[in-house]
Amino acid sequence: MIIKTRFAPSPTGNLHIGSIRTALYSWLFAKRNKGIFVLRFEDTDCERSTKLSIKKILKGLKWLGLTWDEGPYFQTQRLQHYIDIIDSMILSGKAYKCYCSTSRLEKLRKNQILKGEKPRYDGKCRDIKGNFYGSVPYVVRFRNPETGKVIFYDEIRGKIVFENKELDDLIILRSNGIPTYNFCVVIDDRDMKITHVIRGEDHINNTPRQINILKSLGADIPIYAHVSMITENSGRKMSKRNNVIDVMEYYQKGYLPDAILNYILRLGWSYGNQEVFSLDEMKKLFNLKGLSKSSSCFNIKKLLWLNHYYINNLSVDYIGKCLEHYFQTENIDISKGPVLTEIIKITARRCNTLRDMVQLSRFFYQEFEYLSNEVTKKYLNNNNITILQEIRKMIADLSIWSVCNLLQLVKLLSIKLNITLSAVAMPIRFAITGSEISPSIDITMYFIGKDRLLSRIGKAINYINEN
Ligand code: GLU
Repeated sequence: MIIKTRFAPSPTGNLHIGSIRTALYSWLFAKRNKGIFVLRFEDTDCERSTKLSIKKILKGLKWLGLTWDEGPYFQTQRLQHYIDIIDSMILSGKAYKCYCSTSRLEKLRKNQILKGEKPRYDGKCRDIKGNFYGSVPYVVRFRNPETGKVIFYDEIRGKIVFENKELDDLIILRSNGIPTYNFCVVIDDRDMKITHVIRGEDHINNTPRQINILKSLGADIPIYAHVSMITENSGRKMSKRNNVIDVMEYYQKGYLPDAILNYILRLGWSYGNQEVFSLDEMKKLFNLKGLSKSSSCFNIKKLLWLNHYYINNLSVDYIGKCLEHYFQTENIDISKGPVLTEIIKITARRCNTLRDMVQLSRFFYQEFEYLSNEVTKKYLNNNNITILQEIRKMIADLSIWSVCNLLQLVKLLSIKLNITLSAVAMPIRFAITGSEISPSIDITMYFIGKDRLLSRIGKAINYINEN
């Protein structure tokens, strides 16, 4: 049997953490089993589905590398197919037209609630034959079995039982002629030969209804795995903000796809105590048994930790490629300065995101102005002018440009002026980077290069003289 999974988003919003997780698990399960991963847009809710959302979902999946083997399918392109099936179900009595007005249904619902009953359709139109009411608008309902149970074995939650009498005669065709979600899903899962449905636990209640329709069509029932909720640190349901944040916002903030995937993998799946998984490892190790029944907690600190890990452990060439976009958005031309891969090596340790890395390395590529603020006053003042004048002379006279010789200069100056190494290094650092934070002073000086150093120290001295 060929394993086939699918990711079936309704394109009504962003590609957020929760939906990526079902996509990732479905994708990994297919990869692990040399199966097929299908992408399908469930876009029959015409009012809420948007082209923008489709674009965002495609973009996000591509960025994460969650490529699909089949699709993307669009349910709106299969409408006639669903309608044909519904027609034949009406003919065979598996479905029926319901002419009940919204006001009748509303009254029914209110009365049932008043009596303490679960609101459900009372089956009034079940036995009407043919087009009894002529042109009166109607919906089509699935004739759900009235007795018995639906039993299925969820891969995460085990045996789940629903009584048929608890289930409604589900609407499968709306009065506007558009089939409903629960119906299209069933037809697609059957037609696309989906073997494993991995999706959020919010769909558990839909599953018995879908199984009943599948059974009535004589179709195979897929295996289900309903993944638990994601909560905030506080244990509360994921906040609207975190829940809807589009994955490309993480991209803009400087996260690596590798970190996002690893983070999301662990958000509900475990393999012993292992935290870090390469893509190959994920594909090799992923299984449904490792999925947790309890909810998982979204923790941005852990995501940052993983991002830091990957920035420091993936190849510098790869990180360099990923960084290009961020330098471009800051208008920094990296062709005028040290080789980027060298700068990655010296800054990575201090960076949690690629944006941090751009901030920490921009002075290697770009000139800057001293801002008139407290930090500038702290370093660019008359007490430090000698340090800057002396180091400028020493740098100008240095014949062999090496990290070791530059360190030597700073040390010599600290001895000569009888002040600590840090008291010498900090004003120099600020003068040549415009910041208090940089890699070690010798390495920073080395990569900025002699000409730029001399000109920046000169500029700092002028600044002191003028202010
Ligand atoms: N379209 C549904 C959603 O976005 C998913 C349906 C399913 O996976 O069965 O929630």
